[in-house]
Amino acid sequence: MTGHFVTLASLLIGAAALAAQGGPAGPDARTSSSGMNEIAESYVKLVLALGQHDADYVDAYYGPAEWKQQAESAKAPLADLAGRARPLLERVTRLSPPAGEMERLRHQYLERQLSAVNARIRMLQGERMTFDAESKALYDAVAPTLSEAHFQKILDQLETAFPGSGPLVSRYDEFRSRFVIPREKVDAVFKAAIQGCRERTRAHIQLPGTEQFTIEYVTNKSWSGYNWYQGGFRSLIQVNTDLPIYIDRAVDLACHEGYPGHHVYNALLEKHLVRDRGWVEFSVYPLFSPQSLIAEGTANYGIDVAFPGPARIAFEKSTLFPAAGLDPARAEDYYRVQGLVDQLAYAGNEAARRYLNGEIDRAAAAAWLERFALMPRERAAQRVRFFDQYRSYVINYNLGKDLVRRFVESRAGGTANEAQRWEEFAKLLSSPRLPSTLK
Ligand SMILES: [Zn+2]
Repeated sequence: MTGHFVTLASLLIGAAALAAQGGPAGPDARTSSSGMNEIAESYVKLVLALGQHDADYVDAYYGPAEWKQQAESAKAPLADLAGRARPLLERVTRLSPPAGEMERLRHQYLERQLSAVNARIRMLQGERMTFDAESKALYDAVAPTLSEAHFQKILDQLETAFPGSGPLVSRYDEFRSRFVIPREKVDAVFKAAIQGCRERTRAHIQLPGTEQFTIEYVTNKSWSGYNWYQGGFRSLIQVNTDLPIYIDRAVDLACHEGYPGHHVYNALLEKHLVRDRGWVEFSVYPLFSPQSLIAEGTANYGIDVAFPGPARIAFEKSTLFPAAGLDPARAEDYYRVQGLVDQLAYAGNEAARRYLNGEIDRAAAAAWLERFALMPRERAAQRVRFFDQYRSYVINYNLGKDLVRRFVESRAGGTANEAQRWEEFAKLLSSPRLPSTLK
């Protein structure tokens, strides 16, 4: 495995070395939007070409169909793509920063997205990075390292909630088994949850009039839900039914994948950046890029924006528990426990970091998840498959949520002013902001 320092140093070559290089102002040293648009088009074509080597890479694309066809028929080798990606990054780095705020954000964003494309090409060519170096290169962020003692403190509180013998994960699992949505009711519960999320979102965010999505139930996936944005303000939302679906997943998935999460995020980018401004780079979404931290962070934080504390419990009791045939009187108890379990969210990062750094094997990673993330055996095994497929992507959910929360709440003056919070949240969903600038 490549050493930490070597890898970080190679990452810095992009920005720092090029900035130091300076040099005479070539034809690229201009801020004209035509220069940006030209680089943006090459970036889109490069991402599509890289998608030919990595089936998970292109999460969404709704630009010109012929660009996609060209990428498919050309099947350019990785070495060629590396040869295209490096000079493109150099060109965008040489452009002087534009004056307007949105234009400046666009410029910085395209530079970091291109830097991530370069990193992903190197990974596909066989370069191994440490977990932290990889997340920095791909997602513009590094998750904090937390000790076992940190998680143990939270587990100790849960111990008192579930007295008894045997592993805590089993006692928690037994408690939770009473909150499973029966299979035949899953669709009705999800539809009710989506309606609630959509109503709340529409009250605060102007959505394109033709936005819509479809839901599909699928199996044999390493994730629990997925939004496939199709352009034209349409999404396909897939829900994985491999494992039991607990009642809290209804609002979580409906907000995360739909409103005000991924579906809304993609629709607003298409409306405000692609259609209104003609910024073609946003018509493609490379999964292993800083855009994913913003996407997952806003999708997770969006749950709290749509359903702040008491509003969530009220909705669960009046609508979702009855739709699932569960006793509404137990909702408070359930969400009190879930509130504690949510504090274990970063435990998955630690398991992934150790596993992907080669310090522990997959059985040990699954055992770690059982013990510190309270995932029952099958869910832990599913999560390790997620690590195999998506690697350091895991930080986008928890660190992404915390970075987005901090950014939105610092601008909205906390959580007291709900309208202000929605406004700042919507602004973030409609602008190209990088994880490292969420301050
Ligand atoms: Zn997501």
